[in-house]
Amino acid sequence: MLAEHQIPPVNISKLIPVFLKGIPASSGISISKCIIIEQEHSHNYEIRITEDKIDSEIQKLIVSVENLNTDYNDVVKNSIHLSSVVIQIIESYQLILNDDIILNSIKSRIKSGFDAESSISREFDSQKNLFLNSKDQLLKERSVDLENVKNRLLSYLNQKSVDYSLAQDKIIVTQNLTPTDLLKYKEQGALGIITEIGGIASHVCILARSFEMPAIIGVKDAVKLIKHNSEVIIDGFTGLIIANPDTSTLKKYKKRIEEIEEHKLKLGSLVKVDSRTNDQRVINLLANVDRLDDVKQALINGAEGIGLARTETLLSGLSKIPGEEIQYGWYREIADRIFPNMATIRCFDIGSDKFSYGIPIKENNPALGLRGIRYLLNNIEIFKTQIKAILRASVNKNIKIMLPMISDIHELRDSKKVISECMKELRDSGVSFDKSIKTGIMIETPAAVIMSELLAKESDFFSIGTNDLTQYVLAADRTNELVTEVYDSFHPAVLRMIEMTIKSALKSKIPLSICGELASHSAATQILIGLGVTELSVPPPLILELKNRILNINYSQASHLAKKIIDLDNSNDILQILEN
Ligand code: PEP
Ligand code: MG
Repeated sequence: MLAEHQIPPVNISKLIPVFLKGIPASSGISISKCIIIEQEHSHNYEIRITEDKIDSEIQKLIVSVENLNTDYNDVVKNSIHLSSVVIQIIESYQLILNDDIILNSIKSRIKSGFDAESSISREFDSQKNLFLNSKDQLLKERSVDLENVKNRLLSYLNQKSVDYSLAQDKIIVTQNLTPTDLLKYKEQGALGIITEIGGIASHVCILARSFEMPAIIGVKDAVKLIKHNSEVIIDGFTGLIIANPDTSTLKKYKKRIEEIEEHKLKLGSLVKVDSRTNDQRVINLLANVDRLDDVKQALINGAEGIGLARTETLLSGLSKIPGEEIQYGWYREIADRIFPNMATIRCFDIGSDKFSYGIPIKENNPALGLRGIRYLLNNIEIFKTQIKAILRASVNKNIKIMLPMISDIHELRDSKKVISECMKELRDSGVSFDKSIKTGIMIETPAAVIMSELLAKESDFFSIGTNDLTQYVLAADRTNELVTEVYDSFHPAVLRMIEMTIKSALKSKIPLSICGELASHSAATQILIGLGVTELSVPPPLILELKNRILNINYSQASHLAKKIIDLDNSNDILQILEN
């Protein structure tokens, strides 16, 4: 018998299983202990610290201010084409950042026993309230600047304070993740992710799929409902999460893991098999790569080239864009590893939900903002540095240049001018490169589709980015779980856009590939091939599964089916046919 004041020990076997459902975002099953990662608590002003932590918190503040200052200086230096208005905005941010009154007041608060994060939040918010309550309209507007500087400063502070190693062999449960966080957790050996928010086509999910890391997103209140360190099964096929599973459930899922491993082994035998439909139509299978390591995976899985190298992912975790030498090293390595096959190097698609270095102001709609080619043409020095690095890496003639987010023919023409200028400068300095290098574009905006016939006349190739195309055609944020149902790449409007682009490419006889996630979707293979696509670029771990489907497809039947499907008016009917 226990005395009244005694608390009974926790009996693990009696833990009650908790079942949660989310959106399956990366397939696979993981079973492991979980780690709960709480997001920033920037509105909590009362995080207390002990006296021995005061110096290190002040140091964190100083380092974050220095980093942000460097960031702002670099933006001004690199952005010679930015308007003077934007430069003035950045200068006003710097005035706020380096304001002695604000800084000293944050330091005093830390000295009185609060951590750097809550001290920054408290000070900036009280300054902001002063501005907001002012009668002067200009001062009221300045409150937005304060919020902006506060958020940037807090993000630098948080960057330094996350201990990624805690995720080793664990399943991460958190509200939201950035691509940079995910890369770091992966490096530390995380086994799966569960998030409360996010869309399946977000870069975090794309990365999880390329790491073969099971992921479930949109799990309401996951952080509250799953207890830290509890055992969790995450089923990335169905979106089911079971915390504290009982023994028979555990046994069932361990068996599933074994079956999945066996299936993968069987697929391995397809590496050397040619990728053709059963009526002999050749379909080239290329790889999407986000890191240098992915090229190794691409080769292991028999990729016939790199269809999309997302160069902006190489910037994750870096505080600024590296110079030409480092970039040359990256691109050369990608090209050399895949040689003699081709590597399509996409210029930095900075902005939106990706690396946002150098975006001078907080954008309310970043996906509609200074992104991709718009960013590059606004930051010519950054663009030129990248193009020169790519050109230098092209000496063995196995690189193509790809431009992201084209929505206007002038963007293509201006970019080609930049490429010609870089070629001339390299030639003048006696540097070798591939003089007949091909320049193609991503088709991922409705404008590019509508104008595809004209764009095809001036592009060497097209690659359809269905992730963004779906987002922009349907006006549904690819990173927002609330519109998962609306964000539908099988919507007839998206499929018709794809069809239209294919026709334009065929008319101008330029090659076309699909590099968005739709390319690897099991239900999409038939319709894409039926519409005439002969090149698909997908994350390396999905290549063999895709090849397996292709081997069982009959092109003439698929083409017949595609004609029928393209006339349907809704994706339910479309999917019903494709999934049968
Ligand atoms: C796309 O938009 O489909 C694409 C491949 O590019 P990203 O996912 O990098 O935006
Ligand atoms: Mg895109």
